Amino acid sequence: MQQIDAKPHPSIKGVMIIDGKNNFPISWLNQQGYCEYSIYLENVRGIETEPTIEMKQGQAIHQELENDFKKDAEIIDFKEMMKLSQTQEILSREMYVSSPKFGIRGLIDEIWLTPDEFIIIDDKPGSFAYNSTINQVFGYCLAFKDTIGADDRKISGALRQRGTSNIFWMQEFNEESQRRIQKILERMQNLLKGSKHFLPTNNPRKCAKCRFNSFCEFG
Ligand code: SF4
Repeated sequence: MQQIDAKPHPSIKGVMIIDGKNNFPISWLNQQGYCEYSIYLENVRGIETEPTIEMKQGQAIHQELENDFKKDAEIIDFKEMMKLSQTQEILSREMYVSSPKFGIRGLIDEIWLTPDEFIIIDDKPGSFAYNSTINQVFGYCLAFKDTIGADDRKISGALRQRGTSNIFWMQEFNEESQRRIQKILERMQNLLKGSKHFLPTNNPRKCAKCRFNSFCEFG
């Protein structure tokens, strides 16, 4: 089995150094699109806040879905699942993906694996496809693509309204989407290395709803 060299970053919470490269949670791509300075406050300065009502509601619905899924779910190994999906449709939840190459890792809410394609679904509280949520789901697509290696089935990313079956956005993860997400990952790597500065949003409406606003010099 291939050995992976992984250790926590000495000063940034949530970052692991895997095979010599900073590796961060894919959910940060959503936070980066909202305001990257909030990533700095939370993980570099280490500011802790109470979860918001929306976060608590999201976690509760998420747990409910997970419990329902587990009632009929079978546990199978990743390689076996990939092989089975060449001939039958499989639904998997909470799949962990990690890409040391691209410096990202995270848990995918749900994947539909079919003989023709993979659909990677991220559940969101609303039904509007923000750039930040698209970046997050493309991050999962890239990490999944890197994890499965040589498999020429199409990969699509999708956003679904949490607790419903309403898929309100879906797009193929093609070369253009890969270029888009790799550009953002490059910026994130520069922020984590300190060669670029975490920038605050200039949208006061975001600051008004931000859980860090009482700690933030820009809020
Ligand atoms: S208060 Fe505004 S600038 Fe500060 S972290 Fe929150 S969203 Fe960003």
